[in-house]
Amino acid sequence: MVEPLGEAAEHARIGRLGRVRDRMGEVGVDVLLLSHGADLPWLTGYRAMPLERVTVLVLPLVGDPVLVVPGLEAPRVARADRLFTVRPWSDGEDPVAIVASLVGPTVRRAAVSDRAWASTVLDLQQALGATDWVAASTVTSPVRAVKDPGEVAALRAAGAAADRVAAQLQAGAIPLVGRSEADVSAEIGRRLLAEGHTAVNFAIVGSGPNGASPHHEPGARVIGAGETVVCDFGGTLSPGGDTGYCSDITRTVVTGEPSGEVAECYAVLLEAQQAAVAAAVSGVTAESVDRVARDIITAGGFGDRFVHRTGHGIGIEEHEDPYLVVGNVEPLRPGHAFSVEPGIYLPGRFGMRLEDIVVIGDDGRPEPLNSADHALVTVDG
Ligand code: ZN
Ligand code: ZN
Ligand code: ZN
Repeated sequence: MVEPLGEAAEHARIGRLGRVRDRMGEVGVDVLLLSHGADLPWLTGYRAMPLERVTVLVLPLVGDPVLVVPGLEAPRVARADRLFTVRPWSDGEDPVAIVASLVGPTVRRAAVSDRAWASTVLDLQQALGATDWVAASTVTSPVRAVKDPGEVAALRAAGAAADRVAAQLQAGAIPLVGRSEADVSAEIGRRLLAEGHTAVNFAIVGSGPNGASPHHEPGARVIGAGETVVCDFGGTLSPGGDTGYCSDITRTVVTGEPSGEVAECYAVLLEAQQAAVAAAVSGVTAESVDRVARDIITAGGFGDRFVHRTGHGIGIEEHEDPYLVVGNVEPLRPGHAFSVEPGIYLPGRFGMRLEDIVVIGDDGRPEPLNSADHALVTVDG
């Protein structure tokens, strides 16, 4: 048996449950069915293992939430009696029939986890009377996007831990020249763990021309002198054993003095990133922050070399709402947490990206959660 969910963790989730119910009412959802994916731990503290056995939190608009969980998994569920009850099912029982009996016959619109086994979803659609099915994110995404104070504190802690690794990189504590990207990536991962992360989610190391591929898979290429190296890494940090929150930071360093062209390019990138962070105040649209970064990079002559959106929301998942992308006219608001990460990529030559996580404070102002040096730092020179 695991410990019951702590008082603070349970209290925060009671608040979330209320906000989820309000949203269900707004969008006309009668029942929310959460299986795999991040909504479940966000709401209950329990992260379902991706087993074929059916796990579903049945959350009706009115009435008590019930977690239908495989019996052998039930001991892993931290009890939170004010939040939900647990209905373990054993081999020989039909979990979908249990869910159907909990839902009842009158439900019309059901929302189901964006990440659930298709087999589970198909069985639920067969067994339930609902005629209208929508993705759970319709309900949960806008609620999850606004972090509560505990979540902001967790993101801050994760950001600070990633920052320490970035500072070690910039101080030259992680040798680069003569090592493979894969080696350096593994060392960054070890350092993320040493600084308090519970899991490493990724550690991109793109040296020289490889830096021009934004999501380059670190490989056998040996880092040389006089090259740019894009390092983009993050992990999950779980304060107090509760559900973890993610870090994500990019710093580009150079092994030796940068060429005039690299320095010039970086000056444009830095200006774009800092201006976009400053522009991310409550009330502006998400796409307007993207535009700020893009306009500066375009004016600098690299508009067609900035090949991705400016940022993504972050929380219990590395990528979630809100996305800073053209077309997203949702206004930013206090509690929103997201990356600001413009990049410039010159295929066959080099690339660079600069990324901080930013949260909008109660005063409506952007608070960067990363403060590692934003300059193009020379290491291993
Ligand atoms: Zn990325
Ligand atoms: Zn990143
Ligand atoms: Zn990112």
